[in-house]
Amino acid sequence: MLQKPKGTFDILPDELYKRNFIYNLIRETLSSFNFKEILTPVFESTELFKRGIGEETDIVSKEMYSFNEDKFTLRPELTAPVIRAYLENSLYNESPVKKLFYISNLFRAERPQKGRYREFWQFGAEIIGSDDILSDAEIILIPDLILKKLGINDFVVKINNIGNTEERTEYVSDLKTYLLKFENELSETSKIRLYKNPLRILDTKIEKEKDILVNAPLIKNYLKAETKEKFEKLLNILQKLNVNFEQDDKLVRGLDYYSQTTFEFQSTKLGSQNAILGGGRYDKLIELLGGKPTPAIGFAMGIERLLIILEENNFTFPKQKNPDIYIITSGEAAKLYSLNITNDLRSNGIITETDLLNRSIKSQMKEADRLKSKFVLILGDNELSSGIVKLKKMDTGNETDVELNKIEKIKELITN
Ligand code: AMP
Repeated sequence: MLQKPKGTFDILPDELYKRNFIYNLIRETLSSFNFKEILTPVFESTELFKRGIGEETDIVSKEMYSFNEDKFTLRPELTAPVIRAYLENSLYNESPVKKLFYISNLFRAERPQKGRYREFWQFGAEIIGSDDILSDAEIILIPDLILKKLGINDFVVKINNIGNTEERTEYVSDLKTYLLKFENELSETSKIRLYKNPLRILDTKIEKEKDILVNAPLIKNYLKAETKEKFEKLLNILQKLNVNFEQDDKLVRGLDYYSQTTFEFQSTKLGSQNAILGGGRYDKLIELLGGKPTPAIGFAMGIERLLIILEENNFTFPKQKNPDIYIITSGEAAKLYSLNITNDLRSNGIITETDLLNRSIKSQMKEADRLKSKFVLILGDNELSSGIVKLKKMDTGNETDVELNKIEKIKELITN
């Protein structure tokens, strides 16, 4: 039997129903912030991700699914594609600030484990064109509100400011000088990072390296008055609006284009994969992709991790609907006649099921029961000649006689 590729999953109807419920809540919430939804192609030119994410990141260096002699790549993230679409379609002409969001699948060649897949879903939002601290606040308030609407309260927003380019360059240089003293004690990965992107060593999960970092220089000591003041303002707003946040001096994001505000929502329930979502400011990306210098900030949340948290919280999702009525037929004439009824009921939004296997009345009844249909209606030659049918309510067993040509009456009984 052929099987799906490792790290992928089928989204079966009951699961999709849950996801659609969440997607509706996301769309409703984003719409209340006046964000507009966007979809971009599943694959883009490989160059977009090399430039937009950075060649030495894990994503670009080892997690991309590329094809056609590496010309194209299945999207491993959505920020670069959204910015590409923003520039290519001149969306900046529509308004100086564009607020866009997406719900999309992405692809990364990772080692699959709980909460980590090769094809997975994210929803995210981007505010393009504003460097006002209110846009930072808005971008954090969106997922905060969505999680709270879903009854999730056990999370903390870890937040940091990694400065502008000048501030960070000075910091990274000092960090490197400090870490060079411990080069021999670092892991192989960290040794490479030390030369390529020392900031990422702050992400380490290795205890020994964590100990080394205790006395490392901190980015906050490199921030100039203007950056500090803006960051303080943001923290004040978050505090006023009851966002549960913690400053985290070591929070740097894996992608190179981040600057200033960076944040991560962390769940206390997810174990090693505790990041529910990450985001931050990326004021340099738009220039990097060929646009005019334009500030921007965004976040992306993993849908599967959100689902895991909801399962752990025993969240009650709405259930798929069962049929309102199952029309049991016997004989060719009844079958044909029943089509008028099913058609009429269905066009009125009543969920109507019939037999597609030419089964006996008894097995159709069994099927109606298995499908948990609310009503059944039995239509055979006798009913056709008398013009009277019985409408049976399944939970009580109550039967009501209805005239066959009074479909209105049937609808009324079903919907009341
Ligand atoms: P990133 O795009 O790496 O900043 O990740 C943003 C969010 O996407 C994370 O916080 C996770 O919730 C989710 N995520 C990232 N990688 C994966 C993956 N391989 N499988 C499932 N979810 C993921």
